[in-house]
Amino acid sequence: MIVNLVEYLETTGQQLPDELAVLAGDRQMTFSEWRMASRQLGVRILQRAPTQANRPIAVVLPKGVDALVAFLGVLYSGHFYVPLDGSSPASRLEKIFADLQPMCVVTAAPLVERLTAAGCDPSQLLLIDEACAVGPDDEQALTERYRSTIDTDPCYIKYTSGSTGDPKGVVLPHRAVVDYIECAQDMYQLNQDDVIANQAPFTFDVSVQDIYLSLKSGATLLLVPEQHFVFPANLITLLTEQRVTFFCWVPSVLVNVCNLDLLRDVETNLRWVTVLGEVMPTKPFKYWAEHCPQATLVNTYGPTEAAVASSYYVWQRPIDDGQPIPIGHPYRNTSIFLLDENEQLAGPGAVGEICIRGSSLALGYWNADESTRNAFTGNPGQTHYPETVYRTGDLGHFNEFGELMFVGRRDTQIKHQGYRIELGEIEVAAAAVAGVQQACVVYDHQRRQIVLFYSAASELNAAEWRKTLAESLPAYMLPKAFHRLDEFPLSAHGKVNRKRLMAELDSV
Ligand code: AMP
Repeated sequence: MIVNLVEYLETTGQQLPDELAVLAGDRQMTFSEWRMASRQLGVRILQRAPTQANRPIAVVLPKGVDALVAFLGVLYSGHFYVPLDGSSPASRLEKIFADLQPMCVVTAAPLVERLTAAGCDPSQLLLIDEACAVGPDDEQALTERYRSTIDTDPCYIKYTSGSTGDPKGVVLPHRAVVDYIECAQDMYQLNQDDVIANQAPFTFDVSVQDIYLSLKSGATLLLVPEQHFVFPANLITLLTEQRVTFFCWVPSVLVNVCNLDLLRDVETNLRWVTVLGEVMPTKPFKYWAEHCPQATLVNTYGPTEAAVASSYYVWQRPIDDGQPIPIGHPYRNTSIFLLDENEQLAGPGAVGEICIRGSSLALGYWNADESTRNAFTGNPGQTHYPETVYRTGDLGHFNEFGELMFVGRRDTQIKHQGYRIELGEIEVAAAAVAGVQQACVVYDHQRRQIVLFYSAASELNAAEWRKTLAESLPAYMLPKAFHRLDEFPLSAHGKVNRKRLMAELDSV
C-alpha cells in the first residue's frame, strides 16, 4: 500500500538505481541519484524544524532536475510542496506568500533578489545547491518522518486563477495522487523502456502525471524545452531522436503540429498520444491518429481539484470532423454524475453540471472556507451519510454510447493556451488601474484571445494597458484587445450583458 508518494521513488530508486530517470537539457539524473539528492534535502529541511510536519514549503526553481529533487525532498521531510513560477509578477508572488505563509522556500541563488522583493524573509530561503551539498547524515530520522505521513495529508498545493482577483490554492492529499497514478499505470503499462515527454509547467497538474508515472514505472522523464512548443518542428525532431513513447500535452500543441503538417513522412515510437486540459478539436486529433497508427490516442478530462484527470476517451470509432470528441468514461475508482438546475440527476441525454466523487478529490482550497464549501459540497443524492463531491462548474451530457461529452462552462472560467484563467481575476486587476471606472473581460473563442472592455475618462492604448496589467498578472493572462465603452450594456437584472459584449466582437 502506497501512503506517501516518496515510496515510488524509494522503490524505483532501489530496484532500478542506474536507469535514466530524468533528461533535462544538458542535465540528467538516475533514479538512485534522484533518491539520494531528495533524501539529502529532506534531512536539511528536517533539521531546520525538527518538531514541525505537514506545513507548506514553496519551491521556486526553474523547471529542471533541481525542482524535481526539491518536490520529493519536501515530501521526505513530512511536509508538502507548492510549486511557484519565479517569473510571475512580484505582486502576485507576494499575494501567494501572504496566503501560504510557507515554512520555507526552496530556491536557487539567482532567484533570491526576486523573492525578497516579493516579501520573503531571507531566513526563509533554502538554497538547493547548498542543501544537497552535504550527505544525508540522519537517514533514520528521515525514514521515520516520511513514514509518519498518512495518505490524507497534503502532498502539494497548486495555485490556480481565482475569480475574486486572488490566486487560490488547491490542496491535494497523497491519497488522491496515488489513486490516479495507480489507475493511469494500469491503463498505460509503462516500463523502463518508455520515455515520457513532459510539456506541462510544474505549476500545472498534468506534470504530476509525468513525474509520478515515471517514478512508478521506471520510465525516463524527458523535460522538453519550452521553446520547442513555440517552434514545433524541433519538437518532432526531439520526439523521434529521444524515442518518446508517451506524452500528455495540451491540445493546442497537437493543433499546431497538425496545422504545420509536421508529422508528414515522420515515424515515431509513440505508444500513447494523450491530451488534457481543454477541448481537443476533432480534425487535428484525427491527423495524429492517421500519422501515428501504432499509438493509442486518448482524450482525458479533469480539473486540478481531482488529481490529474477524472475521465478518458480512448479513440476507437470514426468521428465526423464536425462532431466533438467525447471526454469518455470515469477512471476506475472515480464516479461522475450530472446535476441539473434543481440539484437532481440530469435525465438521459440532458445537460447538467459535471460532479466528481472519489478518492482522487482535493481536500479543498487553502485558507478559503467559503470557496471550499461552494465547490466541495455534500452529494445531494446521498442523504444517509456525508459524502463530498466536487462540482466542476463544467457542463456535460452523456451521448447515446454512454460517453460523457463536454459542453462548456457555467461561469467565466476559460482555458487559454492551456492555462486555466478566471476572467474575474483580470477584471479585478483592470478595475484597479487609475482612472478606470468599470472593466469586463470576455474570451473571443474564434480568435482565441482575451478581450477587455472598459469605461474610463480617457483612453489607454494597448501597450499602456499591457504594461500596467503585467505588474500584477502573468503574461498568459494579459488581454490582447482593448475596447473603451461610454456605457456597458446591461441585462434585465442590471448585470453587465456579456452576450451583447460578445456580439460586439463580431462587429469589431
Ligand atoms: P485545470 O484545473 O487547469 O486542469 O482545468 C480544468 C478545466 O479544464 C476543466 O474544469 C475543464 O473546464 C477544462 N478541461 C480539462 N480537460 C478538458 C477536456 N479534455 N475537454 C474540455 N475541457 C477540458
